[in-house]
Amino acid sequence: MSYYQKYRPKKVSELNLFSVRDFFEAVLKSGQVSHAYLFVGPRGSGKTSAARILSQVVNCELNKDRRDNLLDPCGECSSCLSLNKGGAVDVIEIDAASNGLVEDIRDLREKVRLAPANLRKKVYIIDEVHMVSTAGFNALLKTLEEPPAHAMFILCTTESHKVPETIVSRCTKINFYKANEVEMIDSLKRVIEGESLLISDLALPVLASMSDGSFREAHKLLEQLAGFGVEITDSLILEKLGGASKVLIKMAVEAALSHDSAKVLEVFAELERGSSKAQIVLTMLITYLKQQMELAVKSGANVKEILKMLDMLIVSSEKIKVSPEPLLPLELVLLEISLGASGERPNTSLTEGQISKVEEKLQDVNNKLRDGAVLKPELEKVQTEEKKVDKVVSVEIRNELNTSLDKIKQEWGDFLDSFSASNGSLAGMLRNSSPMDLQGKQLVLEVRSRFQKDMLEREVKKKVIEGEMEKVWGPINLKMVVQEMEARTEPNTDDANVTSVNVDVEKIFG
Ligand SMILES: [Zn+2]
Repeated sequence: MSYYQKYRPKKVSELNLFSVRDFFEAVLKSGQVSHAYLFVGPRGSGKTSAARILSQVVNCELNKDRRDNLLDPCGECSSCLSLNKGGAVDVIEIDAASNGLVEDIRDLREKVRLAPANLRKKVYIIDEVHMVSTAGFNALLKTLEEPPAHAMFILCTTESHKVPETIVSRCTKINFYKANEVEMIDSLKRVIEGESLLISDLALPVLASMSDGSFREAHKLLEQLAGFGVEITDSLILEKLGGASKVLIKMAVEAALSHDSAKVLEVFAELERGSSKAQIVLTMLITYLKQQMELAVKSGANVKEILKMLDMLIVSSEKIKVSPEPLLPLELVLLEISLGASGERPNTSLTEGQISKVEEKLQDVNNKLRDGAVLKPELEKVQTEEKKVDKVVSVEIRNELNTSLDKIKQEWGDFLDSFSASNGSLAGMLRNSSPMDLQGKQLVLEVRSRFQKDMLEREVKKKVIEGEMEKVWGPINLKMVVQEMEARTEPNTDDANVTSVNVDVEKIFG
């Protein structure tokens, strides 16, 4: 059995995506399980696992007489056991990508009326539901319009725009997304403990960044590395995945921070010779800078340049995908730092020749981009990213609050837009909140529900939001209040309606 199968989450509390887990924990608490869900998200994000868990929750003996405070499946009662074996006749998994589906769904309309044979709920899990034909959707729609009380539907898709609106509107929609680094490491740690692997500090963030947010991919990489023995060392990662040595990473960062551009060029030449993969070098740079930032914060040193470098590196993660030379965007970030913020060249040991070499490199990458060495949409993406870089660079970290409530209200939308570029899931959670009061440094934010308040008040999330606000308005302490008219306790799907970007600010501050 592969790691991915063996370590599939089996309980709501083990779901890998935090916002999806939070959402279903709220569903368990309220007991308000919908009769139809639509799970939308990329492959390997855990939709099928979540569907199976949900089908166990509604059937587990532990929940037989409960109306709320439902429990995670026990894994031991007769219904849990039959579902774990995959032989339960009342939980039907249909893969819409296979043939003969129209018949299946016509058949389903008849069969769904019949009471379940052994379990309390009959659950239909339809995978890749966007592949269903028009006739199939019509049949499905009729069933969803008048669902029998004993039936539950979980529709999964990677392409929700291909599912008719009439179907979507009858389902509770849950967005799954590419995992961020914290979620990925969390999930990998379960495998590492389960398999008693020994792993270097470097390996986890590297695996997380190589897997592009897919749990399946990350587990596969880990399994490959574990094939060489239980101890996963730095050198194994360097050799098998194309990393760089920690010494070089440290030298590169130190060179940039001490404004030694010549050294930056030297180190990157070395990285190129060693065929280091840009994605791994990026992860290593970010990991190292995170550590340096923590040290600097503790010792009261200036973190401004470190923060700026982190910001720029995050933005460059998109560029390395389209750059003709993937290491170049990273090299340019470090060079820019080493040359100083405003373009003058303080204390640089760069010779005239080296300066023109840097300028040549910059020119070269610009030309290649302009000549259409990359596809147009990708070029546009790079250009927007470049605008973001400008924005990030021009942001000064202010020490005093230089704003008013009116100004914050006015700029709220823009703030959320730029925040969502770096942290989609948090920005999504802030979407339906509004700034209400400003007393000194304390900003009172009105949110729609208790659930939303609890989510946003979690220490790490709050810190990230406050950090982002500080960049725009100066230091702010956030306080959340629930809108008064709000009396609903039911979980709101908007709260889970989130997206995520590959590189998450949370992973830097978390
Ligand atoms: Zn059970």
